[in-house]
This record gives sequence, structure tokens and C-alpha cells, in this order.
Amino acid sequence: MAKVYYDKDVNWDVLKDKKVAVIGYGSQGHAHALNLKESGVSVVVGLYEGSKSAAKAEADGLPVASVAQAVAAADVTMVLIPDEKQAAVYQTEIAPHLKPNSALAFAHGFNVHFKQIVPPENVDVFMVAPKGPGHLVRRTFVEGGGVPDVFAVEQDASGQCFDLALAYTRGIGGTRAGVLQTTFREETETDLFGEQAVLCGGICQLITNGFETLCEAGYQPEIAYFETFHEMKLIVDLMYEGGMAKMRHSISDTAEYGDYTAGKKVVTEDTKKAMKKVLADIQDGTFAKEWLLENNAGGRAHFLAMRRQHAEHPVEVVGAELRKMMPWLHNNDQKD
Ligand code: NDP
Ligand code: MG
Ligand code: MG
Repeated sequence: MAKVYYDKDVNWDVLKDKKVAVIGYGSQGHAHALNLKESGVSVVVGLYEGSKSAAKAEADGLPVASVAQAVAAADVTMVLIPDEKQAAVYQTEIAPHLKPNSALAFAHGFNVHFKQIVPPENVDVFMVAPKGPGHLVRRTFVEGGGVPDVFAVEQDASGQCFDLALAYTRGIGGTRAGVLQTTFREETETDLFGEQAVLCGGICQLITNGFETLCEAGYQPEIAYFETFHEMKLIVDLMYEGGMAKMRHSISDTAEYGDYTAGKKVVTEDTKKAMKKVLADIQDGTFAKEWLLENNAGGRAHFLAMRRQHAEHPVEVVGAELRKMMPWLHNNDQKD
């Protein structure tokens, strides 16, 4: 079992008198900024001119400055804007104002690992990535707990970067739950693999194939939706709470027997080979190159077309209708 660090392992002195610039006030940004502030750390939020988030941060009692001003004043700059915007903002507004011997921090390794951001040698570079969305990072902290984090040291200019990264995890509540050390490479590659092969790509395609199989066999799409999509949440909630064993304990013996016998026929050794290819494309930079080109040269044309095509699939159209029968879901189909 990997070493787990808790509050008692933290050298808080390395962070407590420092000023942290939190760049961005979105999902992660608001949680980091507020949790750090309530842990006694001096925080400034860095945003662009005209940012919608500025009023929110100010209403939450935080000082807001331009990105350049926030970085210039900071001992630690935590970059919490969308990954695909980070390289441009780094070049124009962060790098020119980074104090020598300060620290630059991230919540995901993509830009540093794939060299879209190359920090100068005279700063510490670390990562603190909560294993949960920002609202959970904030809510658990307010309740007196925390969300587990992973942290990593990429560049140790001060000789204290490990202590600083670990102290930062305490500042946002992570060491209340326990935190694990990783590397930028491991975090980036496993994060991309997980979302592509299993959590997003894998599960959405599995559901779609199941839905299409039932519809093509003549069953009603509404029934197909309930059986292959709607019940997914119940199953995943049980696995999340108590592993696959708890889920299998809750379902019928018939379902459990079918689980053991059909699973490997559907998700086969060929699927695993395909997963290894997805991983290899992540490791050798093929995926990163493709996604960066899509954003920079392609104007996101292919990405936006795929988004539209997937939204028009019958499983989505039927699902939107059926969810109207479920008032407890409120307006979850509306985008904010
Ligand atoms: P969000 O999309 O929620 O962040 C948006 C914030 O960035 C908004 O406050 C936005 O302002 C601001 N912003 C956008 N452009 C700029 C700019 N040019 N200059 C300054 N501020 C800007 O991001 P997330 O919190 O989802 O992600 C942040 C980082 O955390 C990423 O690296 C991500 O990989 C990582 N991460 C995210 C997790 C999550 O649960 N979301 C989990 C773990 C890691 P406005 O709204 O006014 O435009
Ligand atoms: Mg990810
Ligand atoms: Mg059933």
C-alpha cells in the first residue's frame, strides 16, 4: 500500500506566512481559495478583465486582481483555469511576473508533462490534485473533513518543495482525509487513460452499444433506456460505496450469475488490447498532439461536430424525454 500522509506529517511553517495566488475561480479555484483562506493562508484570486467569476470571489470575501498582479505578489501561484487555456495565459500573464524562488502549482499535470508550459529553473513546481470535483472539496472542508488529494513535485528549486506541496494539501483539507504522492507523468497518463478507456469513453460506448442492441432487436427505446442507462447510477453508487462485492450483494443471484458469465464475452481480451493501444497513444504523446492540434489549428471543428452528433443520438433524445418523468432530477438537462 502506498504511503498515505495526514495532518500530522505536514510542516505547516513552509506555507503559513506565504501569499497564494489562485488563478481562476471555477470548480477547483473557489474551493482552493476559500479553504486556504480559512486555513489562515493569505490568498489573492487572479482573473482576467471582465471575468464573470470576479463578482463571485469578491462576494465570498476574497481580494481579486489581474492575473499579472496576483502572480507578481505571490509566493505560490496555483493555476486553476481550464487546461486548454493554461499555456497561453502562462506565456503572457504568468511567466513574466513569476517571482524568483516562488512556486508554481497545478491541479493536473497535462501542460507541464507535455511541455506546453516550461517553468524557469528558479521556481518550485508542484501539483495538488483533489480526487473530487471542486464543490465536494469545498463542502467536505466546511463540514470538517476533506477530499483525498494526490500531490507531486516536478521541480525542487528551494529544497522544500515536497514540504510545500504537502502543506498545500493540508490548506485545502486534503490531509484530513489522507493524501498520496504521485508524479506529473503518472497523474497525467493515468488520468487521461481512465477518462478515455473507462470512465467516459468506455462507459458511454458500452451504454450506447447496449441501447442499440436492444433497439435493433425490436424492443422499445424507452425500455432499452431504462435497462441500459438509467439503472447505471444505482449500480455505480453501490460499487462506489462498497466495491463490486456490495453491488453484487444487492442485486439478484440471477443478475450476479449473468454478471460473471457475460461480462468477459462483451468486454473481451480484444477490448484490453484496445485499451493498451489507447494507453500507448497517451504515453508517446500521440493523443496530446492530436488534442492540441484540434484546439490550436483545428478551431475545435471536429470536437464540436462530435459533441453535436453524440447529443443527437437516440439514447440521448429518449433519455431527455424520460427524465421529464423524474422531477427529482430538477433541471439537470439544462446547461448552466
Ligand atoms: P473551470 O473551468 O471551473 O475554471 C474556470 C475558471 O477559470 C473561471 O473562474 C474562469 O473565469 C477562469 N478563467 C478562464 N479563463 C481565464 C483567463 N484567461 N484568466 C484567468 N482566469 C480565467 O476549471 P476547473 O476548476 O474544472 O479546472 C481547473 C484545473 O483543475 C484544471 O487543471 C483541471 O484539470 C484541474 N482539476 C479539475 C477538477 C474538477 O473537478 N473540475 C478535479 C481535479 C483537477 P470566468 O468564469 O469568469 O470565465
Ligand atoms: Mg482528466
Ligand atoms: Mg433490470
